[in-house]
Amino acid sequence: MLRSTLTKWGYEVVTAENGAQAWDILAQPDPPPLAILDWVMPHMTGPEVCRKVRETYREPDTYILLLTSKATKSETVEGLEAGADDYIIKPFDQQELQVRLRAGKRIIDLQMRILNAREELRERANKDLLTMLPNRSAIGTVLEQELARCHRDRRTVGIALLDIDHFKKINDTYGHFAGDAVLRETASRLRLHMRPYDQVGRYGGEEFLVVLPNCELEQATNQAERMREMLHSAKMIADGTEVSVSASFGVTVSDGSERTAEVFVRVADEALYQAKARGRNCVSSLRLEHSAQRCG
Ligand code: GH3
Ligand code: MG
Ligand code: MG
Repeated sequence: MLRSTLTKWGYEVVTAENGAQAWDILAQPDPPPLAILDWVMPHMTGPEVCRKVRETYREPDTYILLLTSKATKSETVEGLEAGADDYIIKPFDQQELQVRLRAGKRIIDLQMRILNAREELRERANKDLLTMLPNRSAIGTVLEQELARCHRDRRTVGIALLDIDHFKKINDTYGHFAGDAVLRETASRLRLHMRPYDQVGRYGGEEFLVVLPNCELEQATNQAERMREMLHSAKMIADGTEVSVSASFGVTVSDGSERTAEVFVRVADEALYQAKARGRNCVSSLRLEHSAQRCG
């Protein structure tokens, strides 16, 4: 009877024959957001299902409406204490059920809005809004995680720090909008040419950090060389003008010891400085043990 009424009202309905089956449905991933539970059911009672649901942390939390013929106050309290959000006494009035369901839907919608807003905030906090790449803090976190993972698996992580050459001149010659367009195009070319498990983030103004898991120094250097080539080989269209862009790369690789991400980036930065000194538009690599950071 409930199913046909609820379907008529536009709800998508899943029914359970007993309490245990109800719990099975509510425990699965992406369960129905609202449950109407009878108090007395075979295998598990409504309040028992309520308690099980509340023991599991879920977002959004299941909204539970308990159906009960037990009209005494203490039983109502028991139902709510088990974790029900609301209750309705049988035999129920259709209109009453309808408005109580609407109240439940409002709560669920509110939860969804809060969850979405939180997700959006989290995304914004990790994203560089110009290039849509992970920002410095986010790519730093990625690097920390990769270092920990590769250290555990006894593998190496490569990193490449790249800096666009004479970028100030691009801004000065073609304007800041053109400069911004070059940053966006650089980001999209880098993203397009990476292996699926590599990651890139905007590290600073015109600097990008590429994290290359399971890479030896030679492979990381080759990968950086490919990136250097594809940035420079075709001109970029920036604010209506063709601009020739190049970047210098500093590459290093984790040595398997417990080092912080910061030390690694410093080594890559040192290599990058060498690439700039060698005349730019090139790749320099440096091992930690040959770096000024080895004691760091
Ligand atoms: P080098 O080859 O030594 O790296 O020279 P460079 O000109 O690239 O380096 P410098 O550090 O002198 O200049 C970097 C410039 O990048 C200065 C800054 O105004 C510009 N910049 C940083 N962030 C942005 C941005 O988001 N948009 C634009 N258009 N310019 C930016
Ligand atoms: Mg720079
Ligand atoms: Mg630069």
